[in-house]
Amino acid sequence: MPYSLYHHNTFGIHATCDGFAEYHSQEECLQLAEQLRQSQQAWLPIGRGSNLLFVAPHYAGYIVHNAIKGIECMEESNDEVVVRIGGGEIWDNVVEHCVEQGWYGLENLSLIPGEVGAAAVQNIGAYGEEVGIHIVRVEGVYVLPEVKAATIERDACQYAYRSSIFKHDLKDVFLVTHVWLRLSKNFVPKLTHKAIVSRLAGKGITPQEVTATELRRSIIEIRQEKLPDPEVTGNAGSFFMNPVVPEALADSIRAQYPDLPCYPCPSDTEEGYVKIPAAWLIEKCGWKGKSLGPAGVNPLQPLVLTNNGTATGADIVALANAIQHDVKQKFSIELHPEVRYIS
Ligand SMILES: Cc1cc2nc3c(=O)[nH]c(=O)nc-3n(C[C@H](O)[C@H](O)[C@H](O)COP(=O)(O)OP(=O)(O)OC[C@H]3O[C@@H](n4cnc5c(N)ncnc54)[C@H](O)[C@@H]3O)c2cc1C
Repeated sequence: MPYSLYHHNTFGIHATCDGFAEYHSQEECLQLAEQLRQSQQAWLPIGRGSNLLFVAPHYAGYIVHNAIKGIECMEESNDEVVVRIGGGEIWDNVVEHCVEQGWYGLENLSLIPGEVGAAAVQNIGAYGEEVGIHIVRVEGVYVLPEVKAATIERDACQYAYRSSIFKHDLKDVFLVTHVWLRLSKNFVPKLTHKAIVSRLAGKGITPQEVTATELRRSIIEIRQEKLPDPEVTGNAGSFFMNPVVPEALADSIRAQYPDLPCYPCPSDTEEGYVKIPAAWLIEKCGWKGKSLGPAGVNPLQPLVLTNNGTATGADIVALANAIQHDVKQKFSIELHPEVRYIS
């Protein structure tokens, strides 16, 4: 009997799979890994499905979910803490808990959907912050080539813009169980984004006065205004990554479009490159607020593609392909999906 994945993806796609299995501890994860290794069936680790697109109506394999909970303080000094978190914890619950405890550094990552395990896989980021900066190590279990528990220290995690070793060399061979984070007891707000500073200013709060609780609240407000709620309109957040292009290409585009926004690149990028917001490119191609069949482009944030009710995975892909085609034609820039296609 196929298992429905409708409640396991924020796009609200009606897909099915062969079966669904959960692990609640490292021991259970080891047992499940052994079953997966022996079965020779396809399998896919999943969190809340907020960065996945089930392209085919049926995934011929098992979906595997980490249900390990818990937040333990492992080390504490006057200045910082190191916490070990079950990968099945909801990410935003962890941010809320840490702010309440006076453990700082995650405020700017408030309200990002999904679970802690996936956050470490994706290197989630927002408003100038990335989780990889805080990760100490990631614990998990290898399924292949042989089943064994392992700890990957931060330096080996290869964190970069929305990327990590778990999305490349260890993709679908390693199941995350726990994530360790180092957090500060001294609150230093990261206010590099204008939207945050002006939101605070609107409340009469200066950068010197802002508390972690207020920063978190303001970020939640901004996100709730800007992004469609997946409970109401199926989506997976930013569908494409922001392209990193040679400065010369950006200059040639700017000659025609003086309003072209450009940002400095993440530290792991070669010199001479800049980041361009994919949303700007999509808007300039006329896609903002448009639809292709039952798949749409959000009218407020064109980087978000939506299921307008009855879309299949193939409908969303058709829209994504059309956008990629137009951006390539107009700007000679390839857009790459941030969302993972599952077929
Ligand atoms: C409205 C909205 C807003 C968003 N905003 C942001 C944002 O601001 N910044 C940002 O970075 N992202 C954002 N996202 C994307 C998404 O929230 C993140 O990528 C999140 O980390 C995905 O978590 P998840 O639990 O849903 O993972 P899933 O989508 O289920 O999985 C993501 C990937 O992680 C792998 N994975 C999951 N769990 C495990 C595990 N235990 N072991 C091994 N691999 C695993 C999966 O195989 C998959 O490759 C947004 C999404 C939505 C819907």
